[in-house]
Amino acid sequence: MLIHISRESGIPLFGNIAFGIIDRGTNLLQVRATSVCNINCTFCSVDGGMFSQQHKVFYEVDCDYLLEEVGKVVALKGNDVEINIDSVGEPFCYPQLEKLVEGLREIQCVKKISIQTNGTIWKDINVDVVNLSFHAIDPILARKLANSPCMDIDKVKDFGERYKKKGIIVRLCPVWIPGVNDTEIPKIIQYAKEKDYFLGIQKYEVYAYSRKHEKIKAQSWYQFYSQIKKWEKEFGLSLQVTAKDLGIHKASRVEEVFKKGERVKLEVRLKGWFKDQMIAVGRGRTVTVKDCTKNEGDLINVKILETKNNIYLAK
Ligand code: SF4
Repeated sequence: MLIHISRESGIPLFGNIAFGIIDRGTNLLQVRATSVCNINCTFCSVDGGMFSQQHKVFYEVDCDYLLEEVGKVVALKGNDVEINIDSVGEPFCYPQLEKLVEGLREIQCVKKISIQTNGTIWKDINVDVVNLSFHAIDPILARKLANSPCMDIDKVKDFGERYKKKGIIVRLCPVWIPGVNDTEIPKIIQYAKEKDYFLGIQKYEVYAYSRKHEKIKAQSWYQFYSQIKKWEKEFGLSLQVTAKDLGIHKASRVEEVFKKGERVKLEVRLKGWFKDQMIAVGRGRTVTVKDCTKNEGDLINVKILETKNNIYLAK
């Protein structure tokens, strides 16, 4: 089920992890236009894609509405804002992506636009940085990890090349899954070195609702960085990327409107991202309500459980 969120819907764009705008108190704003994904990675930390066991509801935000709301937030942030178009899905599944990027370019103080992608859907968009998921060079393993016939690693390589030729920074972002793609990571590092791509190797994480590889445990950060340092020596490259390297710094943040532990009255408006949740609205924010059996339009009294970064959870 795809839910369209427009200004007329009256659904605020702050408060939810699956759509809208996320402000973590820096000059980088995450903009989430869609939660749809066209593939089904076997290790997906958000259980995305059509094979998802947890998510039967997907969201898509109207482009004009999103641009208006981003414009308001950018005005609070200073003059060097980066917009990162990311998603709990695949941003290139958003039908209005070209329009979104062109609109973001028009916003004063937006200095950089970056995007996350699995590289399986080609669209020519005017961004500054492409962060390309790239978990295996081996075509069979790449397709197996994507769990989708949409994954053709040669096409993903071509995707990266086309953006690089436009002068856009391309960063290959493999998730290193111990015991699964260990031998692929050095090949990816070598490939990035030869092709002059940036690299952002990511640690495999296991969350309550993520898709998991059976019997594979996440490494400790110590184990992860020990191996990263070995690869740095082997390839003569720096593989550790800090927020400072990426030009990210603290900046004023959008005000949080609820306090943890507070009891509030809200109106139920939408189905939640997880099956047992509903999304309620109050004080210009959405609040995800756990274990909610109420219907759209009902008023509820709930206790706020989480407020971090203006992402609200209540019960
Ligand atoms: S592309 Fe991203 S959101 Fe989609 S299934 Fe893979 S990891 Fe999950």
